[in-house]
Amino acid sequence: MRAYEQLLIGGAWADPSTTGAIDVVEAHTEQVIARFPAASDVDVDRAVTAARRAFDETDWSTQPLEERIAAVERIIAAFAARSDDLAQAITSEVGCTSGFARVGQVGAPLDIMQSFVDLARTFPWEEQRPGRYLPFILRREPVGVVAAIVPWNVPQVLIATKLVPALLAGCTVVVKAAPEAGLDAAILAEVLVAADLPPGVVSVLTGGPAAGAALVAHPGIDKVAFTGSAATGRAIAAECGRQLKRVGLELGGKSATIVLDDADLDAFRAGLRYTSFMNNGQACAAQTRVLAPASQYGEIVDAVAGVAAGLKVGDPFTKGTAIGPMVSARQRDRVRGYIDLGVQEGARLVTGGSSAPDDQPVGWFVRPTVFADVTNDMRIAREEIFGPVLVVIPYDDQDDAIRIANDSEYGLAGSVWTTSPDRALAVARRVRTGAFGINGYAPDTEMPFGGYKASGIGREWGEAGLDEYVELKGINGI
Ligand code: NAD
Repeated sequence: MRAYEQLLIGGAWADPSTTGAIDVVEAHTEQVIARFPAASDVDVDRAVTAARRAFDETDWSTQPLEERIAAVERIIAAFAARSDDLAQAITSEVGCTSGFARVGQVGAPLDIMQSFVDLARTFPWEEQRPGRYLPFILRREPVGVVAAIVPWNVPQVLIATKLVPALLAGCTVVVKAAPEAGLDAAILAEVLVAADLPPGVVSVLTGGPAAGAALVAHPGIDKVAFTGSAATGRAIAAECGRQLKRVGLELGGKSATIVLDDADLDAFRAGLRYTSFMNNGQACAAQTRVLAPASQYGEIVDAVAGVAAGLKVGDPFTKGTAIGPMVSARQRDRVRGYIDLGVQEGARLVTGGSSAPDDQPVGWFVRPTVFADVTNDMRIAREEIFGPVLVVIPYDDQDDAIRIANDSEYGLAGSVWTTSPDRALAVARRVRTGAFGINGYAPDTEMPFGGYKASGIGREWGEAGLDEYVELKGINGI
């Protein structure tokens, strides 16, 4: 077991103010693998005070951009050097397969960090504009001290997406990691020490909701960048509204994948494993509502059920495993509860179910599950389940499919399967989500990511992701 005794406060290891500790439990063995201090309100205050001082009283934000790029490049190098350790930790904590951990949990953050460095070099930090009456300078200045609060599902992706653009913009940052993913957060803290950032610029706090709430409420924070559930997002937005603090919210989803009647079903089958079951279904962008033409309903239900039934469930470190365990007993119970609910609501269970897989007596496993005869008003079609559970909903025609896709509280992602580029674009333009894919969905670090409606406020990645960490200032009269 790895035991951490200290927190990274203001860029240096420091004793926590209390003896409170949180255990990280490995998802497939249920064994405690790490223990780390739970940050208290006092630790939150120390981290924010250090960040405030570094922002207000040092040249971190005013020095040439190249200096901050150099600092981020040191983070990238130190992170790359710990790739294996990070991937292994995340598979243990989150339960994702080691293949996904390498690519999606460690490769992706490296790519995100480099992408922001590349964008920062050409970003219009300061521009001359002619103005209507007088020429003016348009400046993009750092928003200040940032609180980055993230969940456990793709922890390093979500941290990199906030930390790196904030640092490049000249902000200082306090990261609050999720308790379930404390081990990779501790490794990140070691990475940041190795990158030798100036004092105060970054803190990494491990702790639960109370630490997150204390950070949001702290008057020294200028902006909260949050990823997590819609319920927590609403509470954070309310506090930020009260204090008139800037806030970015990346929340849940219930994305639809629309199969048109001319779709290549072999390609759809092959893609489903990634678009819908990525990270064991513990993905905000997972496409968990499959919309199928009524005329081909049976065939598409069979196709989806065939893919789900063929996914091997088991030890996420074993080659060939497609679905590992859920992150925690609580999450497993929640997902199984939704499976029971689907049956009670009258949906037809085609494959899977709420019982444990026969060959997995230990670990928080859930069978990949598919429901047919689902209507879009059922709770299993409306609420985010965050596990390997799909619903297949019939539609009458293309307009009906778009109507059902949009009939959701959420608006995060989606996709359409068709062999007609014209139909693909016609559908893509009308689905109200922040990201959309044609014949699959591949996240791109230069394409904005974020949600309409209850899926959030703001966008991450690309130029939009840098915009989140700047204030605009106009200067004229020179
Ligand atoms: P959660 O909202 O319970 O927790 C997320 C983080 O917020 C954790 O660090 C938690 O400790 C902290 N927190 C909890 N209550 C808080 C409060 N009152 N104030 C401040 N911080 C608080 O989310 P979860 O269930 O752990 O994560 C899964 C959710 O995250 C899903 O809804 C998923 O869709 C969403 N998610 C969204 C995206 C996206 O980019 N849109 C990406 C990944 C996950």
